Amino acid sequence: MIRRLNFNEPAPGTPSDTRSRKLLPKLQQHISQGYCQKCGRDHSLGMAEAEKHCYELMEHLEEHRTIDLFPATAARDPQLSTDFLFGEARGKMFGILTCRTREGAPVNLRAFSGQFNGRWQVPGWAPPLFNVEDMELLTADVEKTIKRMGREILHPDCSRQQQQDVRRQRRELSRELMKEIHSLYRLFNFRGKEETIFTAYIGQNGIPNGTGDCCAPKLFSLAARKNLIPLGIAEFYWGRENSSKTRYHGRFYPSCLEKCQPILGFMLCGLEELHAAINR
Ligand SMILES: [Zn+2]
Ligand SMILES: [Zn+2]
Repeated sequence: MIRRLNFNEPAPGTPSDTRSRKLLPKLQQHISQGYCQKCGRDHSLGMAEAEKHCYELMEHLEEHRTIDLFPATAARDPQLSTDFLFGEARGKMFGILTCRTREGAPVNLRAFSGQFNGRWQVPGWAPPLFNVEDMELLTADVEKTIKRMGREILHPDCSRQQQQDVRRQRRELSRELMKEIHSLYRLFNFRGKEETIFTAYIGQNGIPNGTGDCCAPKLFSLAARKNLIPLGIAEFYWGRENSSKTRYHGRFYPSCLEKCQPILGFMLCGLEELHAAINR
């Protein structure tokens, strides 16, 4: 029995993908893709079986209202409840990557985008692309300095010239911090290559906030590190629709344009050769 969640309907009159449980028609199939500079063309991966496993995950989320994958046996951790996704915080993306080992055994990887209720790491889910302690150390230090500079600017003895200087220093420090943050993200691909977001990102207008925190990069990087061969990927949104109304509960979406596509070309490089080897 699937318990109905208490949430607002996405758009009236639109059939919800969650309840129809029918596999999407071919034309609606979403893919993960990106341009690879090394090969001079796009690499991509479709949904394949991952869609079916996403519906199973949705059923779990509907029934148990937690991302704890073993809710019957473990003591319930309230921080893992999905309830907050239906409130002020709004929903988030979830994704599944179906893989096989080199020996042919099936393995499914799961991910949520960004943090879940303040947590980067939850057992059974793909970890972030950086070492959490390194990230905390880096940001805590610099944020302290940025706050101190803010106090300096407000101090009555601070001249106009000094204020301008401190403001400029603060801007430079923030820029430097972003660069260091992006260098903590490690991306692995299927040629055994490793890059940071800072070096792998090929978009034109600077690296957007949150690049590398989506499901697709977490999933592909984990698969590459575990020596798994990805077969299909699907990502769906769960919770209250986002404020720009581009994401609705229970619907599937392709990997995003701004953050993911500019790194997925690198991340998916080498996958075609692995697929060719399986099919030989
Ligand atoms: Zn994305
Ligand atoms: Zn390539």
